[in-house]
Amino acid sequence: MTWLDLPAGTGFGPANLPYGVFSTPGTAPRTGVAIGDRVLDLAAATSDPVHATGTLNAFMAHGPQAWAELRATLTGWFTDPAHRAAVEPHLVARDGVTLYLPVEVADYVDFYSSQHHAENLGRMFRPDSAPLTANWKHLPIGYHGRAGTVQVSGTPVLRPCGQRKASTDDAPTFGPSQRLDIEAEVGFLVGVGSELGAAVPQTAFAEHVFGVCLVNDWSARDLQSWEYVPLGPFLGKSFLTSVSAWVVPLAALQAARVAPPARDTPLLPYLRDDEPWGLDVTLEVRLNGELLSSPPFREMYWTPAQQLAHLTVNGASLRTGDLFASGTVSGPARDQRGSLIELSWGGTEPIPLDDGTTRRFLDDGDTVTLTATAPGADGTRISFGAVTGTVQPAR
Ligand code: MN
Repeated sequence: MTWLDLPAGTGFGPANLPYGVFSTPGTAPRTGVAIGDRVLDLAAATSDPVHATGTLNAFMAHGPQAWAELRATLTGWFTDPAHRAAVEPHLVARDGVTLYLPVEVADYVDFYSSQHHAENLGRMFRPDSAPLTANWKHLPIGYHGRAGTVQVSGTPVLRPCGQRKASTDDAPTFGPSQRLDIEAEVGFLVGVGSELGAAVPQTAFAEHVFGVCLVNDWSARDLQSWEYVPLGPFLGKSFLTSVSAWVVPLAALQAARVAPPARDTPLLPYLRDDEPWGLDVTLEVRLNGELLSSPPFREMYWTPAQQLAHLTVNGASLRTGDLFASGTVSGPARDQRGSLIELSWGGTEPIPLDDGTTRRFLDDGDTVTLTATAPGADGTRISFGAVTGTVQPAR
């Protein structure tokens, strides 16, 4: 229970308490906690300078004990009416604040961990061979992305230019991408770093990972398909990656933990998971407000704990602010696909929209919004807020 008057059905109840960075007109960016349709000004409410830095990094670096202590304090503030008089002056309306990139992103890694997504793309791009590559069920495939172009929700999506060459073209041409796409993903933010040379086992996942956000890995499929062999994604991805403004603490997702789908291939010891970190998060993909799909994160073959174990198993160290994303979340059903290239099957099956138009890929002016929810403690619902972006014409 809470003394707050929360909107009915809010996903920002006391069981969530996501962190973000906000400002009100004429004030500096600082840490806030979303509660109902308001934001608690954490810098003012705690007088702790760690919350006045304009990013979550310093607090994330403090580690799991500090995270748990603050979460317990906040829970007490919002549930015990004795705190109302002290807390209420530090609440501001959420629709009146400016939100910022919550974390200074250190390194950015993107995985490829949905079997349904990988099989769909395999069928489209390599129709004459097995949909999954030989390594796919032995390790979570990933690549290093561009941390400096990770931006907060709402950042305009400038249509990228680059080289593209269709199989029917004799030579590459240069120009605006004609196959601009989305990838609906879930991102994990590292709070506590690790030493160079020390692998981080799955059992240490919650000691390092602070929280979870939504990610849209904007992708120019025509640039990507021409450049990606043999070293993987590059300019087709690096122009922009959007993340949600609110970071849901890992501690808020205990009730969402589930076992991942059954696996049919034996795993090497560092990837075996006795206490797996599958998560029952359901995403929603909207184009200009119209629901296109509802990708289920619980269907992911590789969990974020396996991804973290894999990305450090060679001794690569972690830093505060590292972001690793799940890869496109796609389920087995057509209306669970997390990218347009899957929904339009490589552009061969245009997607009908309510306004009578169709899409194969994104048009200038299109707005894509990803949202997600998960079960929270005591039957509550956890919201991840949204990550949105509107396509602008190429310059
Ligand atoms: Mn991706």
